[in-house]
Amino acid sequence: MTSGTDDILEHPAIRLLSELLRRPSVTPDDAGCQDILIERLAGLGFNCETMQFGDVTNLWARRGDSGPVLCFAGHTDVVPPGADSEWETDPFEPVIREGQLYGRGSADMKSGIAAMIVALEEFLAEYPNHAGSLALLITSDEEGRARDGTLKVIEVLQERNEPIDWCVLGEPSSESELGDIIRIGRRGSLSGILTVRGIQGHVAYPQLADNPIGRFAPVLADLHTVEWDQGNEFFPPTSFQVVDIRAGIGFPNVTPGELNARFNFRYSTEWDHYRLKERVRGIFDAHDIDYELDWHLSGEPFLTKPGRLIDAVSQAVTEQTGRTPELSTGGGTSDGRFISPAGADVVELGPVNASIHKVNENVGVDEVVALTAMYRRIMEILLAQVVPDP
Ligand SMILES: [Zn+2]
Repeated sequence: MTSGTDDILEHPAIRLLSELLRRPSVTPDDAGCQDILIERLAGLGFNCETMQFGDVTNLWARRGDSGPVLCFAGHTDVVPPGADSEWETDPFEPVIREGQLYGRGSADMKSGIAAMIVALEEFLAEYPNHAGSLALLITSDEEGRARDGTLKVIEVLQERNEPIDWCVLGEPSSESELGDIIRIGRRGSLSGILTVRGIQGHVAYPQLADNPIGRFAPVLADLHTVEWDQGNEFFPPTSFQVVDIRAGIGFPNVTPGELNARFNFRYSTEWDHYRLKERVRGIFDAHDIDYELDWHLSGEPFLTKPGRLIDAVSQAVTEQTGRTPELSTGGGTSDGRFISPAGADVVELGPVNASIHKVNENVGVDEVVALTAMYRRIMEILLAQVVPDP
């Protein structure tokens, strides 16, 4: 790291972040990041459990036996840096330029993790006898298939009857300034993998063939004209998009025998995947078409209802920035989809997401420091003293 004269560069969250950025933890390799966290957490009185599933390393750390449980969650893995030559500096050697800290994972989301750890240290120094429990759920497989990560840890916790009441996910939720947006839910994501069967033939003799493109065309038109829903208070309208469609053997006088397509729904809480699939099948079955449809569900939509967690996170942001955050359900999926169904309220609060997954990924040094203060404040609001549930 290039050194500066600014005190802010000596902030413990910046130092921890730099240490994490030096570990090339490309999914699913944790590359020792969680060992660094465990060392700090064990010193704070956390009971740390490493949960290894396949090549994925997960950490469940908890301090306290009673409820409510406030859990900070995130991932140590990062997407590959891509072509090194396109980076202005080494993606795994953090560098600060003009107040921005550069490195793969700086925004998504090692800054969130560094802020959590330092916030925990600061909070516990002041409130060693806090109410409830503090926890940390970290995975090394959020950017990948996500099968052996947060999902599996939640399964273990559910088997043990160990609930999470409130979860703050440190994903980069902000759009142009830290805390301008907090995510209180996410849309569901459902993909359809379609095969339409026909009979290949000579283009001049259509009566002897069965062109699957012609069969699918009216179905596709219907899928595009349906108004799936109008959205609701917290969700934009459900969207249907075809992402891939292919047929044809690449020869001008041969019609294809098969068509393959892939489409995706980003859907609101007006639907669940069962009803959505049923509706799609209904549209196909209203046509004369020989098809096979497989599905891949990435996650059901979830929504955290107004309550103490959203209030606490909003308050912490407002105190720090002077602004009221927008409550949003936009963006892609996150591991919140696994944590929320277990009964936890989930809110995502993290740095600006403008550079995530890009070359020259970066985060504002002052953002990391402010995020640390916000996380600390959220703990203070929720756990500094026992407040009875309404
Ligand atoms: Zn992320």
